[in-house]
Amino acid sequence: MKEFLKGLVEKNRIKSEVGNVADYIPGLEKSDKNALGLCITSTNGTIYSIGDCNIKFTIQSVSKPITLMLAILDHGEEHVFSKVGMEPTGDAFNSIQKLETCKTHKPFNPMINAGAIATSALIKGKNSQEKFQRLLDFFRKISENETLEVNDDIYLGESLTGNKNKAMAYFMKGEGYIDGSIEDALYVYFRQCSIEVTAKDLARIGLFLARGGVMSNGERVVSERIAKIIKTLMITCGMYDGSGEFALRVGIPSKSGVGGGIMSVVPGKMGIGVFSPALDNKGNPIAGEALLEDLSSELSLSIF
Ligand code: GLU
Repeated sequence: MKEFLKGLVEKNRIKSEVGNVADYIPGLEKSDKNALGLCITSTNGTIYSIGDCNIKFTIQSVSKPITLMLAILDHGEEHVFSKVGMEPTGDAFNSIQKLETCKTHKPFNPMINAGAIATSALIKGKNSQEKFQRLLDFFRKISENETLEVNDDIYLGESLTGNKNKAMAYFMKGEGYIDGSIEDALYVYFRQCSIEVTAKDLARIGLFLARGGVMSNGERVVSERIAKIIKTLMITCGMYDGSGEFALRVGIPSKSGVGGGIMSVVPGKMGIGVFSPALDNKGNPIAGEALLEDLSSELSLSIF
């Protein structure tokens, strides 16, 4: 199996050539364009780590399903989905367009920037530091990695350059989709995007969801219902405006990020973490997507 997986990684590594690493957030441009890592952790305890699995990178949008889980734990499903919708947009991850043009002005889903800022605003705590600390503790718990930390340089870059995200936050505040402080919401959002992980961490979070919200020691952290919500939104909205095609080609609930990460969940079977920093024109890891397509067809992993 290990040799087979190594072959898939090497076959797909060259596909990075036609992609580009993100450079709109200062610091991300330093990533090695040709890096490719695959980590698989299965419910029976088997772990495979192939290629660049130990390189740290910022989690970026892969943080969004995790924050959504804590927001639902903090407030319940009904309240959360009164602030953010459940529908794919077909627009870019950072698009502001539908916020203005749709009738309700409600962010479409929690997997794009607007919706994720609205869910970050829901994390409980007496101030921004406490809110983020609670969220970081939750990331550490479900990744079973107590050492997760924020990359402060990337955080600084995000908060200095994230004007479009700030504009969306102010707009949503004006429309009643953010209750508390905008500054707190943006602090939590920018910091959660700047948490450093490896492909192994993403595989462990995927495994947590593959077990329906249960850790390796058997502790249930979120209900089956919450795990189902997260996996459903990952398959419908997790790969930005490439989610439909990805569902057809790969068929595995997944969430990508512009740092090059993909976290995938094969329900009942395995969590998969990918690191692939060269992105396609939709902001999805180009070699990583191709690798997951091969993996899914070779091992019959599609949920459809
Ligand atoms: N922090 C990034 C942003 O807000 C996240 C984008 C992403 O990974 O999709 O633009």
